[in-house]
Amino acid sequence: MYYYPASTRYATPSIYRRCGRSGIHLPMLSLGLWHNFGGVDTFETGRAIVRKAFDLGITHFDLANNYGPPPGSAEETFGKILKADLSAHRDELIVSTKAGYLMWEGPYGDWGSRKYLLASLDQSLKRLGLDYVDIFYHHRMDPQTPIEESMGALAHAVRSGKALYVGLSNYTPKETSIAAKILRDLGAPALIHQPNYNMFNRWIELELLAVLEDEGMGCIPFSPLAQGLLTNRYLAGNIPNDARAAKAHGFLKADRITPELLAKTKKLNAIAAQRGQSLAQMTLAWTVRDPRVTTALIGASKVAQLEESFAALQNLDFTPDELAQIDAVLRVDSMKKDTLKPKKRR
Ligand code: NDP
Repeated sequence: MYYYPASTRYATPSIYRRCGRSGIHLPMLSLGLWHNFGGVDTFETGRAIVRKAFDLGITHFDLANNYGPPPGSAEETFGKILKADLSAHRDELIVSTKAGYLMWEGPYGDWGSRKYLLASLDQSLKRLGLDYVDIFYHHRMDPQTPIEESMGALAHAVRSGKALYVGLSNYTPKETSIAAKILRDLGAPALIHQPNYNMFNRWIELELLAVLEDEGMGCIPFSPLAQGLLTNRYLAGNIPNDARAAKAHGFLKADRITPELLAKTKKLNAIAAQRGQSLAQMTLAWTVRDPRVTTALIGASKVAQLEESFAALQNLDFTPDELAQIDAVLRVDSMKKDTLKPKKRR
């Protein structure tokens, strides 16, 4: 059946934020295809999620060479969806991919050499059926390869027209500063950083966000819902059959769901309820409460989850008391309080 995107998809311009000091705006929620879009998953479910995302105004879709399983299959799935449904809308999309983790056998299929990064990008473009990606990331810092070599490969991807922008993922604040300077000198400034960040892992508040602001880079936290732990998925104390923690290939392991974790999520859920939000919605609003966070990079296994998550954008404001209640549940009193205050939006 032919797909006509919703004519209302850009009706709310306020859902877009400028990415650092670049010319690019991203929706405050972006869709990642790490889980639920592999060869093991149902194609039509993934396709319906992508269509719904685009209908809602979500213009950014995030991939990596190794997403699946099997590795590479999420890019193939997205390539099929692009061809079938979105080919007329390529210029409305920001498609990203990455290389940095094991992708093929032998000494050239992992980490950060120029050989690996550029060969992997070519492979990704083939699977996606694209001439270029909008953002090409180094997925993780390679301590064995000179950072100049890895950054040189990213800059070459831009010069060769195979990527419009470059990004860094899982780099420490110090590595980010060094990489950003090299990339600037090479004429391919770093657009964005993709770190893990959620209520259970707040490391970026201490230093990384300040570095990104200085460098003019955006920030796109991955797994803001802690892979589903910060939603109603496990609140009842059991693991639903179709949940990530129940899947053999899922990265969320059942032993993460401890009584201590459940006690915290129940308290957080009660705060969310006071705000008239689900736990997922409050969590996502909280993730983007600092304007240095450009967009939260979410996953979804169902269209209904995506719709629910997107509705978080209807209530983004927190009172100081709500933030304090959340901090108390998370016990963040040992962190620097000034980094936890919401900043003025720009
Ligand atoms: P999330 O933390 O958003 O977790 C998504 C999962 O949460 C879904 O699969 C679903 O679980 C559950 N969920 C989502 N919305 C709802 C809802 N409204 N109600 C109830 N449950 C919900 O993100 P991911 O861990 O999926 O990561 C997102 C993206 O981040 C990835 O696709 C990838 O693009 C990127 N990423 C990058 C990494 C990096 O190293 N750069 C590492 C990891 C991720 P269920 O499946 O159980 O239904």
